[in-house]
Amino acid sequence: MYDLIVKGGTVVDPSQNLHGVNDVAIEDGKIARIAPDIPAGEANRVVEVKGKVVTPGLIDLHTHVYAGVNGTGVDPDIGGVRAGVTTMVDAGSSGCDTFGGFPLHIIPNTATEIICFLHICRTGLATSPDIFSPASIDLDKTIQVIKDNRGVIAGVKARMVSPALEIMGMEMPKMAKRAAVEAGVPLMVHIGDTEKRYDANVIRELLPILDKGDIVTHYFTANPGGVLDSNGKLVPEAKEAHDRGVWLDTAHGRMNFSFDVGQKVMDQGVLPHCISTDLTVPGRVNTVHSMTEMMTRFLAMGFTFDQVVTMSTENPAKAVGVAGRLGTLAVGKQADLSVLEIKEGDWMVYDILGDGRKSDKAVIPVMAIKKGEVYEAGWGPRPWGWEPDTA
Ligand SMILES: [Zn+2]
Repeated sequence: MYDLIVKGGTVVDPSQNLHGVNDVAIEDGKIARIAPDIPAGEANRVVEVKGKVVTPGLIDLHTHVYAGVNGTGVDPDIGGVRAGVTTMVDAGSSGCDTFGGFPLHIIPNTATEIICFLHICRTGLATSPDIFSPASIDLDKTIQVIKDNRGVIAGVKARMVSPALEIMGMEMPKMAKRAAVEAGVPLMVHIGDTEKRYDANVIRELLPILDKGDIVTHYFTANPGGVLDSNGKLVPEAKEAHDRGVWLDTAHGRMNFSFDVGQKVMDQGVLPHCISTDLTVPGRVNTVHSMTEMMTRFLAMGFTFDQVVTMSTENPAKAVGVAGRLGTLAVGKQADLSVLEIKEGDWMVYDILGDGRKSDKAVIPVMAIKKGEVYEAGWGPRPWGWEPDTA
């Protein structure tokens, strides 16, 4: 007897080249079987999802969910299971001096799985600016906190912004890289100086220090220090980084996503691997609401739905080292699923500069299934409403 059958949906799992109507049976929190017409009588519970799409559980590779500690921290389940997302990566909200609240207060009280990257700044993003002195970094303690929290902390985060770069220059990301290497985890680097003050050419010094498995986030930023030079050409170090296995994530956020930059990058043939939100409390209100909204933006940019699913499931799972468990609906893997609706209409999506793109399809969250547990999803609260008039 199965615990649950998710019945009648179109299963889209690029990790197995699956795209067709199938039932998914779940037992003991794992995928037990995928086949057409698994009899309803073989399960304790059946969820009908005819007309909907079933994907591996969405993984948001860049979020901020240190709710109640950092002013920008979103209640994780609002951007997580209640938005159709089963796993969120917190991208450096905490540092070695402030991490302790994650395993004590956030993770045990959250249905959505949280994987943390530890900021090289000892106080994470509790203050703004984060790094304001070389004493903002405690390398030894950063390494120790990662070693003490294996399985919860999956990487180190650094931000190529002012004033950190003005104070420390390349010494800052190099220290973050050293922490990552010594702790045996990848480094995620925010590119694009949101203060617009530092030398844009720093990207050409940064990218060569990244190894296979490290992550560049804000790949489509229009801020100084992004991957395009002043003539709109992709810096050669970006393709080199891509070719040696550095992950490229577009993390939207409040200040770092431009359709124009994205189009220029794509025209030069180096596509992103992941399409995270960089969710924050103010960002959620003003610029980006959810992973499904990011999926819609990439449909508007001309990606196929299957490509968008890969960039929201399989690729982020690999980037954070959980591909043996998540990012796929293969039999025996953890039963993390997202049920989505693809709604036809005249939709508009915007980047942070106000540039719009039309899409005839929007991706809407219906349900998240985390380790076999069902959570209803929806738009969640948003003051001005994103859903357009499709009449
Ligand atoms: Zn961020």
